[in-house]
Amino acid sequence: MAETRSRTGRAAPDPLAVGVKIRTVLGDIDPAGLGVCDAHDHLFFASKLLPGQELDDPDAAERELIAFKTAGGSALAQWTPFGLNRRTAELSRLSRETGIHLVAATGLHRAEHYPALDGVIDRLAEVFVADLTEGTQPAEDPAEPRTGPKAGLIKVAGAFHTVDAHARLTMTAAAAAHHATGATIAVHLELGTAALEVASLLCDDLEVPPDRVILGHLNRNPDQRLQREIAETGVFLGFDGPSRANHATDWRLPESLEALVETGHAGQILLGGDTTTAAARASSGGGPGIPYLLTTLRPRLTKLLGEEVVSGMLVANPARAFGTHWRM
Ligand SMILES: [Zn+2]
Repeated sequence: MAETRSRTGRAAPDPLAVGVKIRTVLGDIDPAGLGVCDAHDHLFFASKLLPGQELDDPDAAERELIAFKTAGGSALAQWTPFGLNRRTAELSRLSRETGIHLVAATGLHRAEHYPALDGVIDRLAEVFVADLTEGTQPAEDPAEPRTGPKAGLIKVAGAFHTVDAHARLTMTAAAAAHHATGATIAVHLELGTAALEVASLLCDDLEVPPDRVILGHLNRNPDQRLQREIAETGVFLGFDGPSRANHATDWRLPESLEALVETGHAGQILLGGDTTTAAARASSGGGPGIPYLLTTLRPRLTKLLGEEVVSGMLVANPARAFGTHWRM
Protein backbone atom coordinates (compact mmCIF):
# COMPACT_ATOMS: atom_id res chain seq x y z
CA MET A 1 0.00 0.00 0.00
CA ALA A 2 1.35 3.41 -0.92
CA GLU A 3 2.33 5.72 1.85
CA THR A 4 1.05 9.25 1.65
CA ARG A 5 3.88 11.70 1.24
CA SER A 6 3.95 15.44 1.00
CA ARG A 7 5.64 17.22 -1.86
CA THR A 8 8.69 17.60 0.32
CA GLY A 9 8.79 13.83 0.80
CA ARG A 10 7.75 14.00 4.46
CA ALA A 11 5.61 11.04 5.48
CA ALA A 12 2.08 11.61 6.77
CA PRO A 13 1.76 11.46 10.56
CA ASP A 14 2.06 7.89 11.76
CA PRO A 15 -1.13 7.25 13.73
CA LEU A 16 0.87 5.33 16.30
CA ALA A 17 3.33 8.20 16.72
CA VAL A 18 3.38 9.87 20.11
CA GLY A 19 1.23 13.00 20.24
CA VAL A 20 -0.92 12.42 17.15
CA LYS A 21 -4.59 12.71 18.11
CA ILE A 22 -8.00 12.87 16.48
CA ARG A 23 -10.13 15.65 17.97
CA THR A 24 -13.60 14.13 18.51
CA VAL A 25 -16.62 15.75 20.14
CA LEU A 26 -15.81 13.85 23.36
CA GLY A 27 -12.14 14.84 23.36
CA ASP A 28 -8.85 13.95 21.67
CA ILE A 29 -8.35 10.23 21.01
CA ASP A 30 -5.55 8.02 19.75
CA PRO A 31 -6.00 7.42 16.01
CA ALA A 32 -5.53 3.67 16.59
CA GLY A 33 -8.88 3.71 18.45
CA LEU A 34 -10.91 5.30 15.64
CA GLY A 35 -12.06 2.09 13.94
CA VAL A 36 -14.29 1.83 10.86
CA CYS A 37 -14.93 5.43 9.82
CA ASP A 38 -17.42 7.11 7.49
CA ALA A 39 -15.03 9.90 6.51
CA HIS A 40 -17.65 12.34 5.15
CA ASP A 41 -21.24 12.45 6.26
CA HIS A 42 -23.84 14.62 7.97
CA LEU A 43 -26.08 14.04 10.99
CA PHE A 44 -27.19 17.69 11.03
CA PHE A 45 -27.24 20.12 8.11
CA ALA A 46 -29.48 22.92 6.92
CA SER A 47 -28.96 25.15 3.91
CA LYS A 48 -31.23 27.62 2.22
CA LEU A 49 -30.39 25.74 -0.99
CA LEU A 50 -32.21 22.63 0.31
CA PRO A 51 -35.51 23.94 1.76
CA GLY A 52 -37.62 21.30 3.50
CA GLN A 53 -34.72 18.81 3.49
CA GLU A 54 -33.01 19.92 6.70
CA LEU A 55 -31.19 17.34 8.79
CA ASP A 56 -32.44 18.62 12.13
CA ASP A 57 -33.98 15.63 13.91
CA PRO A 58 -31.82 14.17 16.72
CA ASP A 59 -33.93 10.99 16.92
CA ALA A 60 -33.53 10.33 13.19
CA ALA A 61 -29.78 11.03 13.50
CA GLU A 62 -29.56 8.53 16.35
CA ARG A 63 -31.42 5.83 14.39
CA GLU A 64 -29.05 6.38 11.47
CA LEU A 65 -26.01 6.10 13.75
CA ILE A 66 -27.29 2.93 15.42
CA ALA A 67 -27.89 1.32 12.02
CA PHE A 68 -24.33 2.34 11.04
CA LYS A 69 -22.98 0.81 14.25
CA THR A 70 -24.96 -2.39 13.70
CA ALA A 71 -23.31 -2.64 10.26
CA GLY A 72 -19.85 -2.41 11.89
CA GLY A 73 -19.28 1.35 11.99
CA SER A 74 -17.40 3.01 14.82
CA ALA A 75 -16.64 6.61 13.71
CA LEU A 76 -18.05 9.36 11.51
CA ALA A 77 -16.81 12.79 10.44
CA GLN A 78 -19.56 15.37 10.00
CA TRP A 79 -18.51 17.86 7.32
CA THR A 80 -21.20 20.44 8.19
CA PRO A 81 -19.32 23.76 8.53
CA PHE A 82 -19.99 26.90 10.57
CA GLY A 83 -23.49 28.32 10.38
CA LEU A 84 -25.28 25.39 8.68
CA ASN A 85 -26.90 23.78 11.73
CA ARG A 86 -24.03 21.66 13.05
CA ARG A 87 -25.84 21.06 16.40
CA THR A 88 -22.55 20.17 18.06
CA ALA A 89 -24.03 19.72 21.55
CA GLU A 90 -26.29 17.03 20.05
CA LEU A 91 -23.23 15.42 18.46
CA SER A 92 -21.66 15.05 21.93
CA ARG A 93 -24.83 13.51 23.34
CA LEU A 94 -25.19 11.13 20.37
CA SER A 95 -21.56 10.06 20.61
CA ARG A 96 -21.94 9.31 24.33
CA GLU A 97 -25.18 7.39 23.80
CA THR A 98 -24.19 5.37 20.73
CA GLY A 99 -20.47 4.89 21.40
CA ILE A 100 -19.65 6.16 17.89
CA HIS A 101 -16.68 8.56 17.65
CA LEU A 102 -17.83 11.79 15.99
CA VAL A 103 -15.64 14.54 14.52
CA ALA A 104 -17.29 17.96 14.06
CA ALA A 105 -16.17 20.57 11.56
CA THR A 106 -15.59 24.27 11.47
CA GLY A 107 -15.02 26.11 8.20
CA LEU A 108 -17.33 27.74 5.69
CA HIS A 109 -19.33 26.49 2.72
CA ARG A 110 -19.97 28.29 -0.56
CA ALA A 111 -21.55 31.71 -0.02
CA GLU A 112 -24.90 30.76 -1.57
CA HIS A 113 -25.65 28.42 1.37
CA TYR A 114 -25.87 31.40 3.75
CA PRO A 115 -28.46 34.16 4.09
CA ALA A 116 -25.70 36.54 5.21
CA LEU A 117 -22.12 36.36 6.41
CA ASP A 118 -21.85 39.79 8.02
CA GLY A 119 -19.66 39.85 11.09
CA VAL A 120 -17.96 36.56 10.19
CA ILE A 121 -16.55 36.84 6.69
CA ASP A 122 -13.88 39.36 7.73
CA ARG A 123 -12.60 37.23 10.67
CA LEU A 124 -12.84 33.68 9.40
CA ALA A 125 -9.47 32.42 10.62
CA GLU A 126 -10.26 33.67 14.12
CA VAL A 127 -13.65 31.88 14.09
CA PHE A 128 -12.11 28.64 12.77
CA VAL A 129 -9.33 28.63 15.38
CA ALA A 130 -11.80 29.35 18.20
CA ASP A 131 -14.06 26.48 17.05
CA LEU A 132 -11.05 24.13 16.95
CA THR A 133 -9.43 25.13 20.21
CA GLU A 134 -12.03 26.71 22.53
CA GLY A 135 -15.25 24.98 21.49
CA THR A 136 -18.20 25.56 19.18
CA GLN A 137 -21.39 27.57 19.67
CA PRO A 138 -24.17 24.94 19.72
CA ALA A 139 -26.87 27.26 18.31
CA GLU A 140 -24.53 28.88 15.73
CA ASP A 141 -25.10 32.20 17.49
CA PRO A 142 -21.94 34.37 17.39
CA ALA A 143 -22.98 35.92 20.74
CA GLU A 144 -23.38 32.68 22.73
CA PRO A 145 -20.60 31.13 24.85
CA ARG A 146 -18.51 28.36 23.32
CA THR A 147 -20.06 25.54 25.34
CA GLY A 148 -20.16 23.05 22.46
CA PRO A 149 -17.39 20.52 21.74
CA LYS A 150 -14.30 21.52 19.78
CA ALA A 151 -14.29 21.01 16.03
CA GLY A 152 -11.67 18.57 14.72
CA LEU A 153 -11.67 19.48 11.03
CA ILE A 154 -11.86 22.58 8.78
CA LYS A 155 -14.34 22.27 5.89
CA VAL A 156 -14.23 24.71 2.96
CA ALA A 157 -15.51 24.64 -0.61
CA GLY A 158 -14.33 25.29 -4.14
CA ALA A 159 -16.41 26.64 -7.01
CA PHE A 160 -17.45 24.94 -10.26
CA HIS A 161 -14.25 24.46 -12.30
CA THR A 162 -12.57 27.37 -10.56
CA VAL A 163 -11.38 28.89 -7.31
CA ASP A 164 -13.50 32.01 -7.04
CA ALA A 165 -12.96 34.96 -4.70
CA HIS A 166 -15.05 33.39 -1.91
CA ALA A 167 -13.17 30.08 -2.16
CA ARG A 168 -9.81 31.89 -2.12
CA LEU A 169 -10.85 33.87 0.96
CA THR A 170 -12.12 30.83 2.89
CA MET A 171 -9.16 28.64 1.89
CA THR A 172 -6.70 31.33 2.93
CA ALA A 173 -8.42 31.47 6.33
CA ALA A 174 -8.47 27.65 6.52
CA ALA A 175 -4.74 27.53 5.80
CA ALA A 176 -4.08 30.09 8.54
CA ALA A 177 -6.19 28.02 10.96
CA HIS A 178 -4.30 24.88 9.89
CA HIS A 179 -0.94 26.53 10.52
CA ALA A 180 -2.13 27.71 13.95
CA THR A 181 -3.66 24.40 15.08
CA GLY A 182 -2.52 21.51 12.87
CA ALA A 183 -6.12 20.70 11.82
CA THR A 184 -6.79 18.92 8.55
CA ILE A 185 -8.63 20.83 5.80
CA ALA A 186 -11.51 19.03 4.04
CA VAL A 187 -12.69 20.51 0.76
CA HIS A 188 -16.07 20.25 -0.92
CA LEU A 189 -15.19 20.32 -4.63
CA GLU A 190 -18.21 21.57 -6.55
CA LEU A 191 -19.24 18.55 -8.65
CA GLY A 192 -15.72 17.25 -8.11
CA THR A 193 -14.11 20.03 -10.19
CA ALA A 194 -11.10 22.34 -9.72
CA ALA A 195 -9.20 19.76 -7.64
CA LEU A 196 -5.76 20.60 -9.04
CA GLU A 197 -6.44 24.32 -8.70
CA VAL A 198 -7.46 23.84 -5.04
CA ALA A 199 -4.43 21.63 -4.32
CA SER A 200 -2.16 24.23 -5.89
CA LEU A 201 -3.66 27.07 -3.83
CA LEU A 202 -3.62 25.17 -0.53
CA CYS A 203 -0.40 23.21 -0.85
CA ASP A 204 1.83 25.38 -3.09
CA ASP A 205 0.72 28.95 -2.36
CA LEU A 206 -0.51 28.55 1.23
CA GLU A 207 2.00 25.82 2.22
CA VAL A 208 -0.42 23.35 3.77
CA PRO A 209 1.20 19.87 3.62
CA PRO A 210 -0.76 17.73 1.10
CA ASP A 211 -1.30 15.06 3.75
CA ARG A 212 -3.31 17.61 5.77
CA VAL A 213 -5.77 18.14 2.87
CA ILE A 214 -8.77 16.01 1.88
CA LEU A 215 -10.37 16.74 -1.50
CA GLY A 216 -13.98 15.57 -1.41
CA HIS A 217 -16.52 14.61 -4.06
CA LEU A 218 -13.93 13.25 -6.52
CA ASN A 219 -16.55 10.62 -7.37
CA ARG A 220 -18.69 13.34 -8.96
CA ASN A 221 -16.12 13.97 -11.69
CA PRO A 222 -15.08 10.45 -12.75
CA ASP A 223 -12.18 11.38 -15.00
CA GLN A 224 -9.60 8.73 -14.16
CA ARG A 225 -6.60 10.50 -15.67
CA LEU A 226 -7.46 13.58 -13.65
CA GLN A 227 -8.03 11.51 -10.50
CA ARG A 228 -4.55 10.03 -10.92
CA GLU A 229 -3.01 13.49 -11.32
CA ILE A 230 -4.82 14.64 -8.18
CA ALA A 231 -3.54 11.56 -6.32
CA GLU A 232 0.02 12.42 -7.36
CA THR A 233 -0.20 15.71 -5.43
CA GLY A 234 -0.28 13.62 -2.21
CA VAL A 235 -3.63 14.82 -0.86
CA PHE A 236 -6.26 12.48 0.58
CA LEU A 237 -8.95 11.57 -1.95
CA GLY A 238 -12.58 11.70 -0.80
CA PHE A 239 -14.98 9.37 -2.59
CA ASP A 240 -18.04 10.35 -0.66
CA GLY A 241 -20.99 8.88 -2.39
CA PRO A 242 -23.27 7.14 -2.76
CA SER A 243 -26.14 9.43 -2.14
CA ARG A 244 -29.13 10.58 -4.11
CA ALA A 245 -27.26 13.68 -5.21
CA ASN A 246 -24.38 11.63 -6.60
CA HIS A 247 -26.40 8.91 -8.27
CA ALA A 248 -25.42 9.88 -11.82
CA THR A 249 -21.79 8.98 -11.13
CA ASP A 250 -22.14 6.14 -8.58
CA TRP A 251 -21.60 3.45 -11.19
CA ARG A 252 -18.11 4.81 -11.92
CA LEU A 253 -16.92 4.41 -8.31
CA PRO A 254 -15.55 0.83 -8.44
CA GLU A 255 -13.50 1.43 -11.57
CA SER A 256 -12.14 4.76 -10.24
CA LEU A 257 -11.01 3.13 -7.00
CA GLU A 258 -9.57 0.12 -8.82
CA ALA A 259 -7.47 2.41 -11.04
CA LEU A 260 -6.15 4.37 -8.07
CA VAL A 261 -5.29 1.20 -6.16
CA GLU A 262 -3.46 -0.18 -9.20
CA THR A 263 -1.35 2.98 -9.45
CA GLY A 264 -0.35 2.81 -5.77
CA HIS A 265 -2.74 5.33 -4.23
CA ALA A 266 -4.83 3.04 -1.99
CA GLY A 267 -3.40 4.73 1.12
CA GLN A 268 -4.94 8.09 0.18
CA ILE A 269 -8.55 6.99 -0.39
CA LEU A 270 -11.33 7.89 2.05
CA LEU A 271 -14.92 6.68 1.77
CA GLY A 272 -18.04 8.45 2.98
CA GLY A 273 -21.79 8.51 2.52
CA ASP A 274 -22.47 12.27 2.36
CA THR A 275 -26.12 12.08 3.38
CA THR A 276 -27.23 15.72 3.00
CA THR A 277 -31.04 15.52 2.94
CA ALA A 278 -33.73 14.04 5.16
CA ALA A 279 -35.10 12.13 2.16
CA ALA A 280 -31.77 10.29 1.78
CA ARG A 281 -31.79 8.82 5.30
CA ALA A 282 -32.08 5.06 5.68
CA SER A 283 -34.20 5.14 8.84
CA SER A 284 -36.70 7.87 7.98
CA GLY A 285 -36.26 8.65 4.28
CA GLY A 286 -35.92 6.61 1.11
CA GLY A 287 -32.24 5.87 1.65
CA PRO A 288 -29.60 4.77 1.01
CA GLY A 289 -28.49 6.63 4.14
CA ILE A 290 -25.39 6.27 6.29
CA PRO A 291 -25.39 2.44 6.79
CA TYR A 292 -25.23 1.77 3.01
CA LEU A 293 -21.47 2.41 3.00
CA LEU A 294 -20.97 -0.70 5.14
CA THR A 295 -23.98 -2.87 4.28
CA THR A 296 -23.72 -2.65 0.49
CA LEU A 297 -20.67 -0.78 -0.73
CA ARG A 298 -18.08 -2.40 1.54
CA PRO A 299 -18.82 -6.01 0.45
CA ARG A 300 -18.91 -5.00 -3.21
CA LEU A 301 -15.57 -3.18 -2.97
CA THR A 302 -14.05 -6.01 -0.91
CA LYS A 303 -14.92 -8.46 -3.66
CA LEU A 304 -13.22 -6.20 -6.20
CA LEU A 305 -10.20 -4.91 -4.24
CA GLY A 306 -9.72 -7.32 -1.34
CA GLU A 307 -10.31 -7.07 2.38
CA GLU A 308 -6.98 -5.46 3.27
CA VAL A 309 -7.28 -2.60 0.79
CA VAL A 310 -10.88 -1.77 1.69
CA SER A 311 -10.18 -1.97 5.42
CA GLY A 312 -7.35 0.48 4.84
CA MET A 313 -9.80 2.92 3.22
CA LEU A 314 -12.19 2.62 6.18
CA VAL A 315 -9.78 2.38 9.14
CA ALA A 316 -6.10 3.24 8.59
CA ASN A 317 -6.58 6.04 6.04
CA PRO A 318 -9.11 8.08 8.07
CA ALA A 319 -6.95 7.56 11.18
CA ARG A 320 -4.07 9.22 9.29
CA ALA A 321 -6.23 11.87 7.63
CA PHE A 322 -7.88 13.15 10.83
CA GLY A 323 -5.05 12.42 13.26
CA THR A 324 -2.68 15.34 13.68
CA HIS A 325 -0.20 16.95 16.02
CA TRP A 326 -2.51 19.53 17.57
CA ARG A 327 -0.61 22.73 18.22
CA MET A 328 -3.41 24.21 20.37
ZN1 LIG B 1 -21.01 16.74 2.55
